[in-house]
Amino acid sequence: MPASRKKSSPQKSLRTSDKLARLGLSTDMALVLHLPIRYEDETQLLTLQEASMKPGLVVQVEGVVSDCDVQYRPRRQLVVKLSDGTGLLTMRFLNFYGSQVTQMATGKRLRVRGELRHGFFGDEMVHPAVKSIEAGAPLPDALTPVYPSGEGLSQALLRKAIANAMTRIAWDDSLPDSVRESLKLMPFEPAVRLLHNPPPDVDEYALAERTHPAWIRVKFDELLAQQLSMKRAQAARRQQGAPVLAQAGALTAALINALPFSLTGAQRRVLDEIRADLKASFPMQRLLQGDVGSGKTIVAALAAAQAIDCGYQAALMAPTEILAEQHFRKIAAWMEPLGVTVAWLTGSLKKREKEEARARIESGDARLIIGTHALIQQDVEFAELGLVIVDEQHRFGVAQRLTLRNKGVGSVPHQLMMSATPIPRTLAMTYFADLEVSVINELPPGRTPVVTRLVSQDRRDEVIERVHAAALEGRQVYWVCPLIEESEALQLQTATETYELLSAALPDLRVGLVHGRLKPADKQQVMDAFVRGELQLLVATTVIEVGVDVPNASLMVIEHAERFGLSQLHQLRGRVGRGSAASVCLLMYQGPLGPVAKERLTIMRETADGFEIARRDLEIRGPGEFLGARQSGQAMLRFADLERDQWLVEKARDLSQQLLTEAPDIADTHLARWLGAKEDYLRV
Ligand code: ADP
Ligand code: MG
Repeated sequence: MPASRKKSSPQKSLRTSDKLARLGLSTDMALVLHLPIRYEDETQLLTLQEASMKPGLVVQVEGVVSDCDVQYRPRRQLVVKLSDGTGLLTMRFLNFYGSQVTQMATGKRLRVRGELRHGFFGDEMVHPAVKSIEAGAPLPDALTPVYPSGEGLSQALLRKAIANAMTRIAWDDSLPDSVRESLKLMPFEPAVRLLHNPPPDVDEYALAERTHPAWIRVKFDELLAQQLSMKRAQAARRQQGAPVLAQAGALTAALINALPFSLTGAQRRVLDEIRADLKASFPMQRLLQGDVGSGKTIVAALAAAQAIDCGYQAALMAPTEILAEQHFRKIAAWMEPLGVTVAWLTGSLKKREKEEARARIESGDARLIIGTHALIQQDVEFAELGLVIVDEQHRFGVAQRLTLRNKGVGSVPHQLMMSATPIPRTLAMTYFADLEVSVINELPPGRTPVVTRLVSQDRRDEVIERVHAAALEGRQVYWVCPLIEESEALQLQTATETYELLSAALPDLRVGLVHGRLKPADKQQVMDAFVRGELQLLVATTVIEVGVDVPNASLMVIEHAERFGLSQLHQLRGRVGRGSAASVCLLMYQGPLGPVAKERLTIMRETADGFEIARRDLEIRGPGEFLGARQSGQAMLRFADLERDQWLVEKARDLSQQLLTEAPDIADTHLARWLGAKEDYLRV
């Protein structure tokens, strides 16, 4: 019976250098900077009798194989018995190769490391790490590094490649002694050598926690390289030409005049910041942050007005059709009476309508263009694009934002990004370092805070009664259906069922249903009816998450609130509380709630401040998830941790500035060492 399950792996035929290259390890320096993810303690050896006293712990033992057998019950496995004269150990391997059967044949001497358990047949280890050894082979006297690896690359191979590379590289410290000493950093060479080969007396805890001075040095170097790279990119941006949008003119003045409200202090301040950027001859890259309802749209419209005043086009891109449409309606209503042609472009337009829109964009007839991803299609050409505005910027990929920016003709348009989701400080300093930030930290006057309550699903009848009462008082109500991540179809079905149930339970109310699968025209019809007050209750999926603005709506029910993310709940809740009436948001949940769900819903009840909510969300989820792993700055850092090492981020930022102005050659050397095969730290 053949014991092996041969895996034919194409990687086998790859040369070692190719396998290393796949991990980005194509230079000696890259190999040297390929540092262990953890360490294993192989310095201690226990007898099997001693090991038997330590169930649940990882131990290392040594012995001779007394039996090696492939068993088929309860499932196929390799079972190897090891003895050392003091006891017997059974090892089980559920996945194994033929070579392992040979390695562990009866009579072979093995050193074995794994977690010991007291099993039914005595002491056991499942899938221990196994090494063939000679009798009396010495134990290592220091921790053994374990490197991040790829398929077909053994630890032994990596170790050897790294050790060889260490004999070849130039070990010069990229930081001058004076700088290094003032920052109390370890020199480069001993730090890196220590991490690869920790001495026997090393502080194991500090090594594991990455608080050891050697780790601090490496993390600092990494962050410094990242800061330098960001600042270089920023300098490069300043070399690019952008349309000089020198000043606001007649359109801007007319628009401000026509508004039914006056701008808040915060809106005026951020507008000044934006205007100063638009005057420059290099492209603006500014993020406008402001909580839900803080009034970002009018700021965007006024920025667009300045571009139009200066003879350029402006484009506004939003992540969903509903949001884009809402912008279009609102902004067109402001701008068209002032003689501005506003074009509308989304994927759902008919072919002929699209062609028309594209023609007006290309001829320059359309001065302001609003739409969805359709704006960045290849066949969309602008006549003279001066400003691009991206709403809900975090919902777009980097490539999409760049594509829109590349639609300029002969120059790079200014870019304004908007978000209701604040960026954590450390991310702003690293990943978004080449980004100016403006914050609207004040809501327009006259808002009444939304009261948030948590209600168990069991009290659904009471909630329905409450909806009824609100409608009879002339108020309008949103009923948001649960998010079903696995299936959009299921989500749709639930929404439809809820709509039918509520229509039956509230026969005297006019109820509407809106969801993502409706045709845009039908969707719009429902939304319009709700905006006009013809519908009293709107059953919706999360399509209403962003943008929708109906001041008379003062009650929102969110079903299965425990399934939503905090910022999503905050966005949803922002749909009420837009008028002067006191508003209520009922978060219905299905008990029992786990501790995290409970904490999240409690945060929603206790705070209305979007920035605070985002901060707490970050605490619970960690920054990696904040912008999605793909976009997170953390993803680009191998050693430093943006949250834990914030103090280092700040030091690295300060030094990067100093080096670039006072010692650009040092900056170059350092960057070259750390960037190596990595193309760039910059992803904005
Ligand atoms: P968001 O920042 O969430 O995009 P909007 O731009 O949609 O917010 O603004 C929310 C609401 O506040 C809109 O109805 C808008 O017309 C109104 N608004 C904006 N600025 C002011 C202001 N200065 N005074 C009164 N209402 C304002
Ligand atoms: Mg908005």
